[in-house]
Amino acid sequence: MNTDINYKETLEEIYHTVKSEKNLGEIANYIPELAKTDPDNFGIYFSSIANEEYGIGDWETKFSIQSISKVLSLSMAYHLIGDKIWERVGVEPSGNAFNSLVQLEADKGIPRNPFINGGAIVICDFLISHLKKPKEEFLHYIKELSGCEDISYSESIAKSEWSVGYRNIALCNFIKSFGNIENDPDEVLDFYFNMCSIQMNCSDLTKTFTFLKDSTFTNSSGHRVLTTSQVKRINAIMQTCGFYDESGEFSFKVGLPGKSGVGGGIVAIFPEKYCITVWSPKLNEKGNSYRGMKFLEAFTTKTKLSIF
Ligand code: GLN
Repeated sequence: MNTDINYKETLEEIYHTVKSEKNLGEIANYIPELAKTDPDNFGIYFSSIANEEYGIGDWETKFSIQSISKVLSLSMAYHLIGDKIWERVGVEPSGNAFNSLVQLEADKGIPRNPFINGGAIVICDFLISHLKKPKEEFLHYIKELSGCEDISYSESIAKSEWSVGYRNIALCNFIKSFGNIENDPDEVLDFYFNMCSIQMNCSDLTKTFTFLKDSTFTNSSGHRVLTTSQVKRINAIMQTCGFYDESGEFSFKVGLPGKSGVGGGIVAIFPEKYCITVWSPKLNEKGNSYRGMKFLEAFTTKTKLSIF
């Protein structure tokens, strides 16, 4: 770590600056249950490679991690299945919205990457085929990554998303029509909506992502979860595809691998240096946290700690 930097002071200073500015954007009101979140929540949790840790603002409040969960399902599937997953999902940025259907017809049901909804749904299908109790085993996997026991699905958010899930239902059925979904679409979607509904706070999330920050990481049972090469690849996909059609912008402004979710969370990683989670529920028009992007841009600019 760059020892000249006082992380606590820098994080607090940026936090207060961003908080004093207008909180623009909209909460993800397309999922009725998410629309109930207080838009002024703003939390940060930082952890260095030396486990120097700081929490600021609402870092202890749990929120819906939504698409951030797609990194975790991909990691689990990559560990269990290996490179065979790339036969059914690509690794190219889509340049399209997270819930877009447009490329799938031309691409014959092979989603461009695992972080758009179509790709994440295919990864859920892999997990359902491989696991006896997918929901229980996935939650257990996350608990072992984070070392936190108090992590759960939100039944009300999963139900709420089911009730308006027309696009995801269409995506899953469309992909199945090309033969790229093995299981019953209802079962796949139920797993997908539950995975997105997982609730964690900024600290839980930062701890969960230690496996991408620290190459010596072992989970709470003492196991390595991914090889060095697999960690490299997942960070690379976060870098190129973690923010849907704003991935280039995030790379340009922040310069870190990261992943966002429509609950307003963003996790960003500097491999072998630090991991940081920012949560603020108002989203820009691409579905990424407005304040989260601002905060991280200021942080890597001020500290000069981006990977570029
Ligand atoms: N559950 C959300 C959806 O499918 C996830 C989207 C996101 O976080 N970008 O619409």
